[in-house]
Parts: sequence; C-alpha cells; structure tokens
Amino acid sequence: MKVLLVNPECPANTFWSFKHALKFIYKEASNPPLGLLTVAALLPEKWDKRLVDLNVTQLRDTDLQWADYVLISAMSVQRDSVKEIIRRCKANGRKIVAGGPLFTTSYDDFPEIDHLVLNEAEITLPLFLADLEEGIARHIYTSDEWADITKTPLPLWELIDLKKYASMCIQYSRGCPFNCDFCDITLLYGHNPRTKDRAQILAELDSLYMLGWRGTVFMVDDNFIGNKIKLKQEILPAIAQWMSDHRYPFSFYTQVSINLADDEELMKLMTAVGFETVFIGIESPHEESLTECSKVQNKRRDLIAAVKCIQKAGLQVQGGFIVGFDNDPPSIFEKQIEFIQKSGIVTAMVGLLNVLRGTGLYRRLQQESRILKEGSGNNTDFTINFVPKMPRETLVNGYKKIVATIYAPEYYYQRLKEFLEVYRPAPKKTVRVSMLDIYAFIKSIFVIGVMGKERRYYWKLLGWSITKRPAAFPLAVTYAIFGFHFRKIFEI
Ligand code: SF4
Repeated sequence: MKVLLVNPECPANTFWSFKHALKFIYKEASNPPLGLLTVAALLPEKWDKRLVDLNVTQLRDTDLQWADYVLISAMSVQRDSVKEIIRRCKANGRKIVAGGPLFTTSYDDFPEIDHLVLNEAEITLPLFLADLEEGIARHIYTSDEWADITKTPLPLWELIDLKKYASMCIQYSRGCPFNCDFCDITLLYGHNPRTKDRAQILAELDSLYMLGWRGTVFMVDDNFIGNKIKLKQEILPAIAQWMSDHRYPFSFYTQVSINLADDEELMKLMTAVGFETVFIGIESPHEESLTECSKVQNKRRDLIAAVKCIQKAGLQVQGGFIVGFDNDPPSIFEKQIEFIQKSGIVTAMVGLLNVLRGTGLYRRLQQESRILKEGSGNNTDFTINFVPKMPRETLVNGYKKIVATIYAPEYYYQRLKEFLEVYRPAPKKTVRVSMLDIYAFIKSIFVIGVMGKERRYYWKLLGWSITKRPAAFPLAVTYAIFGFHFRKIFEI
C-alpha cells in the first residue's frame, strides 16, 4: 500500500503563520504537521509513506498518481486548501481518507471523501485499517472514547525536512479542565487532561536531538498545565535532567491558562528547563464578557498583575483577545487597547469572535437563530459568522481600530519596551548564535531599519536595548521582526 499524507495549506496572511517573519530566517513554515506525522506512525510499518506539506512545498500530480490512498488531516483554517486537494484527488482518481479537527466537527461538509476517520486516530484508525484489510472499509469511523496517549507512538519525523521549519513540536497532553464556551478543545479532547508518560517525553526529546534538531520546540498542548502535579513531580524534573545531560539544545514554548501566575514553583521549574514563552487566552478585560463565555479562570483577578508576574518570572506572554461578545460595551475597543498596552503583551492576537461548530457557543447561537455560516478558523480575517448584538459595522470598525492601534509602530514599540523592562529571563545555560540569527539581524537592518516606516522606532529600541538591557538585544530584534509581520498581515 502506498499512502500520501497531505497537510493542506494554511492561508499565508494569518497571524500565526508568521510568514513575513519567517523570511528573515529562511524558513518556510513555523511548525511541522505533528498530527499527520503521528498518524503516519500508526499506519502499518510495511506501507510506503510519503508526506507533502503544502506550507513548505507543492503537491504535484505525480505525487497523487503514486499513491493508492491520499490521507488528509486539517483544521478549520485549512478548509479552502482541503477543497482544492479533494478536487485534485478526484481528478486523478485517488481515494481519500480524512481526519483531524476540521472533519471531526464538520464531516457532513465533505461527502466526496471516501473514508472519514474521525475523533482520535489512536482509536478509530485501527478500526478502519482492520476493515480495509477485510475489504469492508466504511465511510465513517467515530468514537466517544478518549485515547490512552501513553500508547501513542513517536512521530515519523523522517517523512519531513526539519530544516524547512522554524520550530519542532511535541505533544505532552490532550484535554483541558476548563470550559470556555467558544473553544472546541474540550469537544475534541475532553476535560480530563490525559498525559504522556516520562519515558515517552524523553524519547521524543531524544528523537529530535538525534535528528540534529537544535532550537525551539513547541509543546503543542492546548493547556500544558492541565495536570500540574504530574508536571511538577515527574515531567519537568525529568526534562531538566535531560536538558542538562544534553547541554541545553532546546528552548520551549507552550500554551497555558492564566492560573500559571498562582504557582511560583511551577513557573520556576518551567524556566529552569528552558521554557521561554507561553500563550494565554486572556480574551477580555471586561468581567461580564468573561462570565458570558465561562472563562472562570480569568475572573475576579487582576489580569495585568498576573501577566506581569509571569513576565517577571522569566516567561514571555503571548495573549489571545476577543471582541464580539454579547456583553461587550461600546467602550470595549478602548478597554482592550489600554489593557494590551499596559500588560506589555507584545504578541497580542486580537480576533473577532468566531463561532466554531459543536461548541457551547455554537449551540446557544443556533437556538437563537444567529449563526450565519461556518467559521473560517482565522480569527484575524475581519469576518463574522454570526449575528452580533453590537451593530456589525461598529464591531468591525472597532476591531480594525484595535489592530491598527496596537500594531502601529508607536504603540507596538512602546509596548515592547514596557515588556523588556519587566521581563526577567532565567540566565541562559548556553548561548548559541547561529548563522541564521546573524542573517536575520542583518536583514532586519535593511528591511526595517532602512526601508521600514517604523525605522525610527527600530533604531531607538536597539539603542535603548544596547545601553540599558544588552542581554535583551536579540529579543528586541526578534520582536521588531514580529512587528513587521503583524503590520503586513493587518496592512498597517
Ligand atoms: S482554557 Fe483554553 S483550551 Fe481550555 S477551554 Fe479555555 S480556551 Fe479552551
């Protein structure tokens, strides 16, 4: 059997694509398709496997003609590319197997797909494979159970060229104990965080190390601190030992909930092993909007103080923000701008509320006949897929004002300085400066420092950093490059 695994293209102009920043370091994509690489490892060993990631290369007709089956995994944001891949598979007479979040929540949008292997592949893929062997493969495979991820195999890294990506990925856990009503993570992975064990995580670190990877590793969990006790007692100490034994080859970033700020010990352990950045869903500074979306962990706390506490502990905070809640007052746009500026969250992903199929929010708005179309999965594309309480034009214009303000050079560099003044990173165990870092710096001088309209702010920041915070100089350059990307995608 010959199987072609295809990762559809993510639109280039999305916030998280970092497309305009990746050009500075000669990378094609931020992250490899970890889900597909894991699925590849679940397929029979004797099958021939190839992987085409449309974010780093093209799909040729000869690739399709080689394969007996084309296997696609996708998220909502990849929907348009999925449609095109299906069209080409049909034109080439190939059979398609599909799974992943997009198909699990919206399988009825894809009747052309031959086999839909939904929910978690560890459970449904073996059922499909057994039926395929018997010649009785069905159209849909689903399951209500959650997989035991201590049995999940190592991703088949050899199917990709690691050099094309800015970061590698490891999944430690699935599931989140919280219940934010717009989020589909608990629908896809449940509330009870399931974790891999110590030996698996060390094997994943080993496998990336053996392949020569050095640099950033994204722990892709939706909430890395869902099970704090296991992290503190078992996983982080084991990673710390491994990192020390291997002379600190990686730095890590991940996604967490704001209650990380309440646990000094956990923050210390994370920074000690090399965690540098965390993404946190802040969503809104307006308490009633947090109540509306059941973001209980963010309520009744000083969110700015919590962010600063995490930054002081040595972790950069990226933040997610949403406008469009029913309870958002007309002043929400100003409140969001003020909050973001004061928090020093440089990478602030502000999005219009996007209603994803299957979520609590979707069910509520459907009952109120307020769903207009499928969500794009791209929170920053200025589209709204439901009828908001606020006049639509007010909402879109207010949203545009937020992004035009916070990414304008004056505001962006002011926020960046605010962050660098507070941020207290753990001392680096090893300092590695690669040729790519040097290229990126030189390129930033020409693209931002000479040709960019933000050049005045760029030079002022570099001057300030050299004199006041020299250790933060590389970070100042990195964030200047990120700012360039954000301004490009929002066309500021
Ligand atoms: S904390 Fe994050 S992952 Fe968990 S339910 Fe809320 S939005 Fe989803």
